[in-house]
Amino acid sequence: MKLQDYIKNVPDFPIPGIQFKDITPLIGNGPAFRQAVDAIALFARSQQADVIVGPDARGFIIGSAVAYAMGLGFVPVRKPGKLPQESIKYDYDLEYGKNTLCMHKDGVKPGQKAFIVDDLLATGGTVGATVKLIEAAGGTVVGLGFIIELVDLEGRKKLQGYPVKTLIQY
Ligand code: AMP
Repeated sequence: MKLQDYIKNVPDFPIPGIQFKDITPLIGNGPAFRQAVDAIALFARSQQADVIVGPDARGFIIGSAVAYAMGLGFVPVRKPGKLPQESIKYDYDLEYGKNTLCMHKDGVKPGQKAFIVDDLLATGGTVGATVKLIEAAGGTVVGLGFIIELVDLEGRKKLQGYPVKTLIQY
């Protein structure tokens, strides 16, 4: 099964000039979803992750499935105002716009080996912020896994020194 066949390119969404890579056909297909989740979980296992962290919102879908497949816990990294307990926050730039992400202060425990999962690596701003939050909490980032990588946006440059696995490259 070619996972690429389950990604729909939507031009000019959410703003003109953006080629939006829609993963809903992939997560809507059982075998394709399982194949993607299993591939990321295989890599996360090889990095000896002991917790999965996923950013709002598509990182919740893929990341919690990876966590379940591995029998690990999942920690959500959310937009401001959503988390009920004491949180730490980090501001960053998106491919389109700006954003702030937050994580419960004790979401990742000191010394825990965290693996970050999101649907897509673009500029790396989102997962860069997620790395900062995990490290501020005292955790170690042992790797990152994505379904899609937009290679020209050079997100990997922001992630030098961190093992990165992507399943589809554009
Ligand atoms: P970045 O922070 O630039 O790496 O952007 C990654 C985040 O924004 C991911 O959580 C994606 O869901 C979303 N994203 C950015 N660019 C795109 C795109 N072209 N198509 C779909 N999602 C995107």
